[in-house]
Amino acid sequence: MIDFSFPPEIEEVRHRVRAFMDDVVRPIERRAAEESWDRGQWVRGIVEMRGKAKEWNLWLPHMPAEWGGMGLGHVAMASVSAEAARTRMGPFALNAQAPDEGNMHTLLHWGTDEQKERYLRPLCDGFRMVDGKPQAFRSCFAMTEPEVAGSDPTLIQTRAYQDGDEWVINGHKWFISGARGANFAILIARTEDDPDLPQAANSAFLVDIPSDGWEIVRDVETMSGSHNHCEIRIADLRVPAANMLGGRGQGHLLGQYRLGPARLAHCMRWIGQAETALEMMVDRALGRYSHGSLLAEKQGIQWLIADSTMELYQCKLMVLHAAYLIDASGNDPAVVDFRGEVSMAKHFVANSLWRIIDRAIQVHGALGYSTDTPLAEMLTQARWSRFADGADEIHQMRIAQRTIADWKDNHTVSNATGKLPL
Ligand SMILES: Cc1cc2nc3c(=O)[nH]c(=O)nc-3n(C[C@H](O)[C@H](O)[C@H](O)COP(=O)(O)OP(=O)(O)OC[C@H]3O[C@@H](n4cnc5c(N)ncnc54)[C@H](O)[C@@H]3O)c2cc1C
Repeated sequence: MIDFSFPPEIEEVRHRVRAFMDDVVRPIERRAAEESWDRGQWVRGIVEMRGKAKEWNLWLPHMPAEWGGMGLGHVAMASVSAEAARTRMGPFALNAQAPDEGNMHTLLHWGTDEQKERYLRPLCDGFRMVDGKPQAFRSCFAMTEPEVAGSDPTLIQTRAYQDGDEWVINGHKWFISGARGANFAILIARTEDDPDLPQAANSAFLVDIPSDGWEIVRDVETMSGSHNHCEIRIADLRVPAANMLGGRGQGHLLGQYRLGPARLAHCMRWIGQAETALEMMVDRALGRYSHGSLLAEKQGIQWLIADSTMELYQCKLMVLHAAYLIDASGNDPAVVDFRGEVSMAKHFVANSLWRIIDRAIQVHGALGYSTDTPLAEMLTQARWSRFADGADEIHQMRIAQRTIADWKDNHTVSNATGKLPL
């Protein structure tokens, strides 16, 4: 029999996260909105939430206990992240926000002991001591470049050459989330001129920020405002050889290792957002009266609710199944190949998120178009989900390649459609 329930200890964590969001995060977010907090007030608010997250034993849910975390696997994280993402700052409160969460997993797997102590330890703590005072500690991941298609990392032009026991790096990056205020970057640069495989041209480096040669040009303004997605110029940046993360030519591999679970972590948070939008849609439909009945009683509106309900259900099943496969594989696609399921989940959840928020706006009418509800911001935020961490078409290409290969190799499409016993 297939058991779709969580073990009691995971259910207990899920309920604790929900209560934490209601009792701690939402009141602080409400205060921030009512008092129009500036950046300094927000920082203090986040520090307050994080202190409470530790008291509630909800700190760092995705990391093992020896790094101060709760040691939850990907299936358990699906429920934690979905609950946390029903608020704006929930993932930050738990120190499980992008891009730090993915960078922690990457450092844990690829870092040397010294690199882990220097970069992973304070990232997990959320701070380090400077002149006897705690100072926030964050990271960013720098791969995408304005000049070449980010969808194809073999085109990366940022170059690194070795000079004694240092690497010298020149290049240009953009849309580097969280770069302003980050203490270090995982930077992907081309180190190999003529690799055996095009995918073996790049290497990853740990770059301290600030560093001479690392210049933040601007925070790129997006359709939903400025959210610390930065353009970076890199000019004769010197990085010690000991700061290469992974081996030479392993930058692509490391990026793929990082992106699999990181994509799914995005999906988990998007499920929380989609569920919030559906709740708002239903609530509005139950409270608005037009042409002799409530909106909720009209078939046209019921179709919007039904389509959103079915899609959210599919999102949850896909994400839980992909998370289950990642857990079963020990995060190694060579053991259990979870990449197809992650691609399908990423594509489906990103598109469902957009559609569900859009329908919620429709049901709210002019109010939905206003900024009096969070829906307008949620919609513009949701738009990036269809190309960041793999554009829709790249995932569709990979999904189709797997299905065609399954047919050619095994005369079935069963492996490509989730490896399920159906
Ligand atoms: C909010 C946000 C945050 C981000 N954060 C980071 C970050 O922290 N670090 C980082 O390194 N990057 C980050 N990115 C960049 C993101 O990863 C890239 O946008 C993504 O990889 C796509 O690259 P691109 O924008 O260069 O689009 P391109 O690769 O130029 O693609 C443009 C479009 O072309 C189409 N396309 C491309 N290739 C194919 C193909 N083979 N077949 C069919 N169609 C194709 C797709 O429709 C795609 O959307 C972020 C982006 C956003 C919007």
